Amino acid sequence: MERKKLYIQTFGCQMNVQDSEKMAALLEGSGYDTTDDADLADLIILNTCSIREKAAQKIYSQLGRYHALKEQKPHLRIGVGGCLAQQWGERFFRRAPELDLVFGTHQIHRLPEIVGALEKEGERRVETDLCDRVHSLTIPAQPTAGAVSTFVTIMQGCDNFCAYCVVPYLRGREESRPMTEIIGEVEKLAERGIREVTLLGQNVNSYGQKGSDCRDFTDLLTAIGGVSGIERIRFTTSHPKDLSPRLIDCFGKVAPLCEHIHLPVQSGSDRILNAMNRGYTAEMYLEKVAALRHACPGISITSDVIVGFPGEEDADFEATLALMREVRFDNLFSFQYSEREGTAAAAMNRKVSAGVKRERLRILQDLQAVHTLERNRSSIGRTEAVLIEGPSKKESREVTGRTRGNRIVNFEGEKGLIGKTVFVRITEAFPHSLRGEMEAKGAADVH
Ligand code: SF4
Repeated sequence: MERKKLYIQTFGCQMNVQDSEKMAALLEGSGYDTTDDADLADLIILNTCSIREKAAQKIYSQLGRYHALKEQKPHLRIGVGGCLAQQWGERFFRRAPELDLVFGTHQIHRLPEIVGALEKEGERRVETDLCDRVHSLTIPAQPTAGAVSTFVTIMQGCDNFCAYCVVPYLRGREESRPMTEIIGEVEKLAERGIREVTLLGQNVNSYGQKGSDCRDFTDLLTAIGGVSGIERIRFTTSHPKDLSPRLIDCFGKVAPLCEHIHLPVQSGSDRILNAMNRGYTAEMYLEKVAALRHACPGISITSDVIVGFPGEEDADFEATLALMREVRFDNLFSFQYSEREGTAAAAMNRKVSAGVKRERLRILQDLQAVHTLERNRSSIGRTEAVLIEGPSKKESREVTGRTRGNRIVNFEGEKGLIGKTVFVRITEAFPHSLRGEMEAKGAADVH
């Protein structure tokens, strides 16, 4: 059988990156090899995201480009998957007449069958049913050759229904992968040279509540902590309301668990947190931060904030800045609220104007830049264990890696050290990275 070329373009979150890797692995069995040149492709898949308006606009403009390509290559097939495909379904065809296929977040495992039918029958297809089970959860991760770090999906979907979020509608309800299956996958990854795994799910803290073998997230962390060869464990994303004392206790107890947590707060105003349906107050959030710092002094804490949620007044925004000043996050991902069709927030009145949202975001990001640099500077003079991930992008004599607190460090070192953990003394701090010098004792087997 003559091999064909598959080009996948991925938008959005890490979950989508994982899904794209699974699509490529599944379609390999149908005769498709991946290419990174869209012009060579026989099949183009856009794995879409609908979390932000900007991502959706980018997807439509890419489709315009592929439309032109299809006029030159009539046999080219174009499909869209992911969240925007789930949301728009058949409506996508009206917006993008060049499309052949729209498939949803629960149909990935059927891709070989769906593409096969498309090739045979030539009819446009829409496959967007949400199933009781997320079958693609069981498809293992496919890390790139030579990678030292990878993501492992442990659950998918969400039952939380935060007022601004489309995930529960587009990814379905929460479902956890059986623990034995996850451990088996991590063991195989360790045998292939993976040293660091990031456990992935929309709300990893509620792992095990539905669909797994009744073990909880701390059981899973403890078990992965015992897998030989795995030096580092991270996880994302955590919901503050589900961050249990047992889980907080794992920091410092499960040796490979890195001293970093991403804990999205979204707002510092109780009124807005309530309108967002987040299930905690600012005070409860601060208590969790204090408990984390008590269990694990020096833990790196990063977060997400949305500015301009409907009804957000100056006083609410000030409360967010006050919380930031109190916590002093190591880093923060901040966004202007953007309306998502079908969510509770879309029906709320008192929308905040674009100008106010822009200004609030600027103020917040300026404040965070001060905090990030302050936190980075506090590393100067310390010796950090750094897992080397690859060559530095800027300096040919340098390599780049991460501290356990998830800070990027560049330093002079041999390429042969890639994949190893070494001790580095931090000498300089910048807004987005650190620089250091490798200690003479060199490679270290450290936790
Ligand atoms: S926890 Fe909230 S923001 Fe996160 S995926 Fe679920 S509904 Fe969306």
